[in-house]
Amino acid sequence: MNKTLNPVPVCFGGEWREIKDVATTPVHNPSTGDVIAETPLCTAAHVNEAVEAAAAAFPGWMETPAVERARVFFKFKALLEENFDDLVRSNTREHGKTVVESRGDVKRGIEMVEFACGVPSLLMGETLENLARGIDCETIRQPLGVCAGITPFNFPCMVPLWMYPVAIVCGNTFVLKPSEKVPLTAIKVGKLFEQAGLPKGVLNIVHGGRDCVHALLTHPKVRAISFVGSTPVAKYIYETGTKHGKRVQSNGGAKNFTLLMPDADVENSTRGVIEAAFGCAGERCMAGSTAVVVGAAEKTIMPTLVEATRRIKVGPTDRDPQPDMGAVITRQHRDRVLQLIETGVKEGAKIPADGRGVKINGAPNGFFVGATILDHVQPGMTVAKEEVFGPVLNVMHMEDLDAAIELANKSAYGNGASIFTRSGKAAREFKHRIKCGMVGINIGVPASMAWFPFNGWNESFFGDLHMQGREGVQFFTQQKVTMSRWFSFGEGDVWHTEAKK
Ligand code: NAD
Repeated sequence: MNKTLNPVPVCFGGEWREIKDVATTPVHNPSTGDVIAETPLCTAAHVNEAVEAAAAAFPGWMETPAVERARVFFKFKALLEENFDDLVRSNTREHGKTVVESRGDVKRGIEMVEFACGVPSLLMGETLENLARGIDCETIRQPLGVCAGITPFNFPCMVPLWMYPVAIVCGNTFVLKPSEKVPLTAIKVGKLFEQAGLPKGVLNIVHGGRDCVHALLTHPKVRAISFVGSTPVAKYIYETGTKHGKRVQSNGGAKNFTLLMPDADVENSTRGVIEAAFGCAGERCMAGSTAVVVGAAEKTIMPTLVEATRRIKVGPTDRDPQPDMGAVITRQHRDRVLQLIETGVKEGAKIPADGRGVKINGAPNGFFVGATILDHVQPGMTVAKEEVFGPVLNVMHMEDLDAAIELANKSAYGNGASIFTRSGKAAREFKHRIKCGMVGINIGVPASMAWFPFNGWNESFFGDLHMQGREGVQFFTQQKVTMSRWFSFGEGDVWHTEAKK
């Protein structure tokens, strides 16, 4: 193996080791196109080893008092902060997003650890004295056992941290399978957790693709699965996991709508749409990939929006000066995005900002697509239906709020939707009628933070309990109800009564 490649070790039972003699898949630096690592595609036998290590660690970790478990998280948080810049660099290098965006990725992840530090309070149950005469009732929450997480490429630091901090602080043990396209930051974070004092086997990391995932989904000792990725895979994960008796929370893809009302503040709404559509090169499940321009907003906002889009500088993010936007994840993905733009134009969309054919000085092999607007997109077009997951903003035109809400509500997905307006009435109407789980009012990306559920609806989520917030704690625990009655010594004691006979 090339010596310059970064190692991609697994972690089973606290032992980090490189897996040899299996197929691998490349990890790229999208800014340069260089291969920076090779991810091993682990087999079912490797998954079994990881799950067995997690199962062996479970009894001891479950019995560790919740406040002691939380103390490991306080140290973990401190270590993540101390190593912040290194994590940001790693994130940018393997993903391609800008340093500013990577800082957001790592910060959002740290917030999940912050949330986990306070979970002991959320684990508290309820009691009622004298539920019936002399009978008290209480609830407690207990961990499930071995849980597993499967994550996508687009938030290498944050998404794994949506899952295992909550699972582990609740007393479970965990097997993480990060995206094979971006395993390096997840490994760094896992090593910091170990350094914080996490006992061996509580967090295990395995690498791979479909076969590895299938082995996790069907392993009898895995009790719960958290998944984040595209909708077809999310659906498959939900169906297969539940069929094998597991709890599953499965986040899928999305197409999110941003309504621009004629009374919206031009500067703020333009900034909001640009950030929502082109932030992280559009590779976000909360990307505002469709702007619905309502009535006269066509005249007030569109010219500014097109101008601002044309000014977005795309380029390599692994060096200074930083561009406004980085590359997309792989060459194949870049080609797919370009193909979808082509199809949009063929199907009748106008292209007032055209990001095809960008040439970047000093980075000829990076996976770049420039910021693109497809205007006058119609609902039947391919780009209106498929999640592009690239720096492409669809613009649709509607005569009024009713028509715009109706259009957005026809989407198969349901992650987020936003409105830019000065009218409280329009905002309230939108909030009430829009059919999705996260709503923004004068906010372009209404992605909820650690303390609230990440709340997809429709084809953007399969399951009952979302990640983050209280729902995350409920997902990773099971409730027990105890009713108790105590007698005076001897009273009702069958052996005592029998003995007196
Ligand atoms: P993906 O579905 O290709 O992969 C996600 C994970 O599933 C990876 O770990 C991958 O190894 C595994 N996987 C891929 N194909 C599989 C298969 N056939 N069987 C079993 N496992 C498989 O997604 P991606 O390209 O890594 O990430 C982008 C997608 O994730 C987008 O659709 C985006 O909207 C979505 N996403 C959703 C959210 C959310 O919270 N809703 C958040 C981030 C990303």
